[in-house]
Amino acid sequence: MIYKKIKVEWEDITFYNGHKNITELDNLIIEKYSTIGYQIKKDKNFLIIALTLREDKQGFTDVYKFPIGCIKKIVYLKEMKVGTGIFTYKENCQDCKKLSLVDINGFCKDCYTEEEGGLKE
Ligand SMILES: [Zn+2]
Repeated sequence: MIYKKIKVEWEDITFYNGHKNITELDNLIIEKYSTIGYQIKKDKNFLIIALTLREDKQGFTDVYKFPIGCIKKIVYLKEMKVGTGIFTYKENCQDCKKLSLVDINGFCKDCYTEEEGGLKE
C-alpha cells in the first residue's frame, strides 16, 4: 500500500467570547490551517491522514480525521528523488523537464535532494 503525501488546507470553527454588534459579526475571521501527512482513507464524508507510518505500513500515529466540509484544498506533494549530487549528463530533467545537467537519476540541481523523504510541492 502506498500512502500519498498531501497537504490539507482546512478551516476550523472559531469561537469568540464577549459582546459583538452586527458589523463586528461580519468581520469575525475563520481560522485557516494546513496539515501535511499521509492520506490513509478518504470518502465523501471524511479524510483521514496520519503524520507517522509504522515501517510495515499497517500502523499509524498522529492521526487526523477531517470532516470533508472543513477542507478547502488538498495538495498532492511530490516526493523528491534522492540524487547523487553529481550532475554530469545534459538531458531534460525528470522533474522540471528543463534541459540541464542532471545526475544519474535524471534530476537537475534544483529538483533533487540529499535528504531522504524530502518534499516538494
Ligand atoms: Zn529539474
